Amino acid sequence: MSPFDTIVMVDWSGGHDRGAAPVKDAIWAGVVRAGISEEPVYLRNRQVAETWLSDFLEAEQTAGRRVLAGFDFPFGYPTGVAEAITGRADPFALWDWLEARIEDAPKANNRWQVAGDINAHFPGSGPFWGNVGKTDIAGLPRKGTARSGHGCAEMRAVERVAKGAFSVWQLAGAGAVGSQVLMGLPVLARLRRRFGDALSVWPFEAPESQIVLAEIWPTLINVAVRAEEDPIRDRAQVRLLAQAIAGLEPGDLAACLEPRSSEEGWIFGLGQEKKLLSVLAAPLVPPPLKDDCFALPPGVDWTPVPEALARLRGILHQVVGQENVQLAQAAGRVLAGDVRARRSNPPTANAAVDGYGFAHAATGTGPQILPLVAGRAAAGQAFSGTVPHGHAIRILTGAALPEGVDTVVMQEDCRTDSRAVAFNGPVKPRANTRKAGEDVEKGQVILSAGQRLRPPDLGLLAATGQDVVPVYRRLRVAVISTGDELRDAGDAADEGQIYDANRPMLAALLSAWGYEVIDLGRQPDNAGTIRDALDRAAGADAIITSGGASAGDEDHISRLLRSKGRLSNWRIALKPGRPLALAQWRCVPVFGLPGNPVAALVCALIFARPALSLLAGAGWTEPLRMQVPAGFAKSKKHGRAEYPRARIGADGRVELFKSEGSGRISGLSWADGLLELPFEAQEIAPGDLVTFLPYAGFGAE
Ligand code: AMP
Ligand code: MG
Repeated sequence: MSPFDTIVMVDWSGGHDRGAAPVKDAIWAGVVRAGISEEPVYLRNRQVAETWLSDFLEAEQTAGRRVLAGFDFPFGYPTGVAEAITGRADPFALWDWLEARIEDAPKANNRWQVAGDINAHFPGSGPFWGNVGKTDIAGLPRKGTARSGHGCAEMRAVERVAKGAFSVWQLAGAGAVGSQVLMGLPVLARLRRRFGDALSVWPFEAPESQIVLAEIWPTLINVAVRAEEDPIRDRAQVRLLAQAIAGLEPGDLAACLEPRSSEEGWIFGLGQEKKLLSVLAAPLVPPPLKDDCFALPPGVDWTPVPEALARLRGILHQVVGQENVQLAQAAGRVLAGDVRARRSNPPTANAAVDGYGFAHAATGTGPQILPLVAGRAAAGQAFSGTVPHGHAIRILTGAALPEGVDTVVMQEDCRTDSRAVAFNGPVKPRANTRKAGEDVEKGQVILSAGQRLRPPDLGLLAATGQDVVPVYRRLRVAVISTGDELRDAGDAADEGQIYDANRPMLAALLSAWGYEVIDLGRQPDNAGTIRDALDRAAGADAIITSGGASAGDEDHISRLLRSKGRLSNWRIALKPGRPLALAQWRCVPVFGLPGNPVAALVCALIFARPALSLLAGAGWTEPLRMQVPAGFAKSKKHGRAEYPRARIGADGRVELFKSEGSGRISGLSWADGLLELPFEAQEIAPGDLVTFLPYAGFGAE
């Protein structure tokens, strides 16, 4: 956590009032409070800015928040200057000296005179220069080269490190800071007086008070500012710098505020550019789920499946940040923003068949004979000339229609001797042609945020000019199996032991859904090892466990999650499947599936799939439901949903697996999907329509 609650970055100005509408080269303030970036504040002149700053700092102080306030002008002059002017080697003496002399109004100030007065404290000519006013000022040269013998250093020590920084002595010209310093320090001097001990100025004072002022130099994050392409550069600078500083790790922030024994001042963050830029480059990540999100309201007992699903849907939200990927890597990824066509499809009107093109207006009913122009139009080889009215041109599928052509007749309907083409009219206007943009118009939204990109979507993206697409970071899902009895495929296993069937099955399912699988192995029924595995899993976005999920003695996952992970056992009226354990391990949602492979798969398909899809940014997903005639008779009890293993037989009817035992793994593999039988009692006779959920519709093929 940053030691500062509020970061305010101010881009100062030495110029006149800039008017009511936000423009560049005015004063801009960027604020990040409690990690939330606010819209930068436009301050048209220094009077408005000073009032705003005082009020802002006072409000923060009253609210008990610590503030780091940055100003983009030097806080000091080269060593010796303060003493030469005020008699004291104290930067604050110079602040107060300036404060007593600078007169400032929105459209007039006396900075040239004050600069001239300061120059009078030194021999020779200078150090201030750059008077661009109408009238000459005694002792203030217009050009830097006109100075000599003043004895002051041109640069502060920090400016020898901060390459490209301007000298405090230059009052005007692009990038000059001299005027900003003269017009800024008096304001800071008044803020110091007003806030007293509650305010300190780094590096002249230890940055330990509630309000800390520091000198900033937005050039440090120039790369990020340029990428922003904001026409008002100052606005982007203050916003990004405030965000970058707010996001610094405490250690990096402390490095920016190290003590510097100097009356010259120092630039905050100099040397930490990489850290600042990496904060800005980090993907935006939504907040994690609330840690008690799975808690059920009191009194809830057996929950019908649709209710449990609706509850899950209301609780979960996308937890992954964004990134850009090349189209070739985008299959299976989830779009993080709407994508618009960069060009129309087709980009120009073109021929839909191989044949002959001409202007429709020149043709009529009955036999038509049109002389052919030399050359042809083919896909990728446009005909650059114009086809004269009453002439035709050889044209191939996909060729852009040349000037003078709006209609094409198929070659199969023509005769030609290579000088003319003959066919029978009438031909429909624009026959056998495709209009520009008839499929997709440039600028149209072609795919929406949340879309999981399938091969056909990649085709559409490519055709409309995309090469890079914004997607959500791939969801990382950790998988853990629990049970003393489990062995890995390939291990020796005695009779009391069984092979871990769930982990390979669930891992394959998660990969098929496009997620990154973190395999945390199988864990014995031992609270310590399970806890370690969960700790390792907490780097993931979600955790899927199987086994140990009910309230039995050996059910360590349940016990552990209950004591440390805010477990909520959702008793869902579902067969196969026992309670679904939903919990949070260090803010990461845990889906505790039953150990029985049949129940584990059904719960994964029915509950984990839509839940993970929400976390991944792809929204809630419904399974594909098909109405198919039953090939069996069944009488189903009231009070729970059932999902027996099923497949469609050669006769087009749904068959059920011979046994409903949830230990029968062979039935999972025999089936092509699940039957969905609702909560209510049902008498199913052969031929009745039933709801079949194919594995393919779950992406489980
Ligand atoms: P549990 O939920 O831990 O009580 O397990 C219920 C049943 O599923 C037991 O018969 C377990 O042996 C079995 N089981 C648990 N985990 C797995 C697994 N990963 N693979 C195969 N069977 C399992
Ligand atoms: Mg077990």
